[in-house]
Amino acid sequence: MTEVSSPRPPVDGSGSDRRHFLKACGAGLCAWAATSLAPTESQAAVRSGRGLIGRLESPYYQKLPGNEVRCTLCPNHCRVSEGQRGQCRVRENLGGRYYSRVFGNPCAVHVDPVEKKPFFHVLPGTRSLSVATAGCNFTCKFCQNWEISQNVPERTVNFHLPPAQVVRLARKYRCPSICSTYVEPTIFFEYMYHIGRLTRGPGLLNLCHSNGFINPGPLRDLAPYLDAACIDLKGFSPAFYQRIAGGELGPVLETLKLLRKLGKHLEIVNLVIPTLNDDLPTIKRMCRWIVEALGPDTPVHFSRFYPQYQLKNLPPTPVETLENICLAARRTGLRYVYLGNVPGHILESTYCPKCRRRIVHRVGYVIRDLKISGGKCAYCGLPIAGLWTRKKGV
Ligand code: SF4
Repeated sequence: MTEVSSPRPPVDGSGSDRRHFLKACGAGLCAWAATSLAPTESQAAVRSGRGLIGRLESPYYQKLPGNEVRCTLCPNHCRVSEGQRGQCRVRENLGGRYYSRVFGNPCAVHVDPVEKKPFFHVLPGTRSLSVATAGCNFTCKFCQNWEISQNVPERTVNFHLPPAQVVRLARKYRCPSICSTYVEPTIFFEYMYHIGRLTRGPGLLNLCHSNGFINPGPLRDLAPYLDAACIDLKGFSPAFYQRIAGGELGPVLETLKLLRKLGKHLEIVNLVIPTLNDDLPTIKRMCRWIVEALGPDTPVHFSRFYPQYQLKNLPPTPVETLENICLAARRTGLRYVYLGNVPGHILESTYCPKCRRRIVHRVGYVIRDLKISGGKCAYCGLPIAGLWTRKKGV
């Protein structure tokens, strides 16, 4: 998974040294990671260094003859020989047993606006403690965070941050949610899972931004500890998935249907890349599928592409293209359609599907006005899909 393309620099821990990492973080919200923690935390939570890697046995693999293993976490189903790793680069066969090498060792730990994930229907205007490790199970040519997603954990600068510390930091920095993001969180499943379990006590939300490329079994196991998912639906053509993302469309559609069946709040992001996935009839087909399979209340974000990584040859998506797509998407019946990565655009805001009044006024990641009360439109009382209320004490 990649985080949705944005004009911002990538957020990662892959820089050549610690100074580079902090610079990449930006001096603002995430500088706390190195500067604001108490001495006890600086020993337990901030100890970091290049190649700091953990080891936790995965619950998702089968043993094969000759000390080989078959990973059952994602639809890649990697067959891995002793001493080797799966495609995601972070799961390793050691002596015929299969291990996550990134448990408790994120390379990116930031406090982000929840709108940046992007979740537009989850606690607007709040901050989300966001974590990622190295690795990914896709190879998107447009990845914004390729320096960590296409890397091994030995080459990123990693924190020692066990799940309990993540939860404690979220509370300390007044984040009502924790989000596994930046790369595909399935590849650090055990970390996301244990963080999720620990969010139940203090009433934090556990979120993820994912490419949806996960097997149904692990997803069902995660479900009790997951509140909402933002899924990249990168296109609606199997060929695009194979050629540009290094993945498959079918399992992503199955994940979306399962998340809906499990009753999770769901938002979808479609990054529109000129000439590669901007075909309007295909996008309309995708929207009709969303309406029928997931329901018209599913928020869908059509985001602007900016040239990066292996697609620097393409131009940014014309805003007019995105506007036409949003209009067409609305006509298929989708009720919450957003235009992403164009700060200040009128389609960043939420409008009530019934009375048409603006109920969330967004400018970039800033909430200027919020007219939702108790999960309903403050003007006409229509229930608005989403998670709008913090749990008590959070
Ligand atoms: S999680 Fe990693 S090792 Fe497992 S199947 Fe997917 S890509 Fe392969």
